[in-house]
This record gives sequence, C-alpha cells and structure tokens, in this order.
Amino acid sequence: MKHYELELPQGYKEAKVIDAKDSKVGLVMTLVSFLITAAIVTVACFIIKPTWEQLGKDVSTDGFIWHMLVFLVTMVGYIVLHELTHGVAYKLLTKQKLTFGLTLTVAYCGVPNIYVYRKASIISMIAPFVVFLPVFTVLIFVLPLTVDKLLAAYMLGMHVGGCCGDLYGTILYLFKYKNPKTLMRDTGPKQTFYVPVDEQ
Ligand SMILES: [Zn+2]
Repeated sequence: MKHYELELPQGYKEAKVIDAKDSKVGLVMTLVSFLITAAIVTVACFIIKPTWEQLGKDVSTDGFIWHMLVFLVTMVGYIVLHELTHGVAYKLLTKQKLTFGLTLTVAYCGVPNIYVYRKASIISMIAPFVVFLPVFTVLIFVLPLTVDKLLAAYMLGMHVGGCCGDLYGTILYLFKYKNPKTLMRDTGPKQTFYVPVDEQ
C-alpha cells in the first residue's frame, strides 16, 4: 500500500490544523499536559506509597544529587528518543527527508515535504507513546528505591502528558477522520489533515 503522496492530489480539502506553535493551542496543550502529569503522579503515589522516612533513607544512601543527575539525563534522553521514534517510523514508512526541532515549549519531528496516508500517519504519531508507556510503567515497579520509583512515575506522567498532541491527533483519526484516504502534512510543530472532498 502507498503510504504517502508527493503532492496533494486533486479533490482534497483541508479539514483540520493542529499547530503547536499557535500560542492558544500551545497554552491549552501545556495545561492539559500538566494536568495529565499531575493525575498520573497522584495515582502512582497511591501505588508507591512513599514516606518521608523512606525517601530520606534512599537519598542518604548514595546522595540525592546522583538520583537527580540520572533523572535529568533520562529526561533529556527521553525527549530526544521520543522524537527519534517518530522519525524512525516516518523513515521506515516513507523514506523521505525528516525535520527535527526544539523550542521552549515543543520538541518535534516531521516529514514536511509529503502528504502521509492515514495508516502510516497514525503509526508514526502514536509510536513513541506505545514504546515508552511500558518502559516507565515497568520502571516504577522494578526500581528498588522509593525515590527512583517516584522519579519514574514523574517520567511516566511527563511522557503521557507530553504525548497529548500525539494522542489528540490519533483520537481525531480514530473517531473523526476514518477514511483511509485521509492525508496529513506534518511539518513537525504543525499537522494538517486533508480529506477527499466527496467524503464530507
Ligand atoms: Zn510526539
């Protein structure tokens, strides 16, 4: 099956734009992402049941600074790997030139010169969510120290919250743009959906 078009075919119209660089969209995404992160960390705390005593013990064993350093490296590494996962999926499915970028509010990966069909678009969009969800979830349970479990819980929250744009796009595909001929142009921070005119 063909996964993309080099030009927008005749008979398509723009149906939806998600622009993370638009200040209103950016603000809503940041807010939603923060709420999701807070909700996940809260739920995780009920499972981990941290106590100040335990945390104090954990931290005094090998120093708080080391946990924070590993955490910071993990966080930066995760942001890079998240975008690379989008990139690998796009590359495997389209073999086209990718674009990557980072601003204060968004990190992104896109494939700006083509129009990607629904199936390939969904796969590339949701790939990081699917890959990293089990990673951080498992870490919460297997890491021995409470302080690290909490940091993993925060990473899980940040991951799911940070995926809110990816999840929103996927939900639109699943419930609104169900036509397999739906195309998306993804420049990185901005996704535009195109649907065949006769469909709507
Ligand atoms: Zn993403």
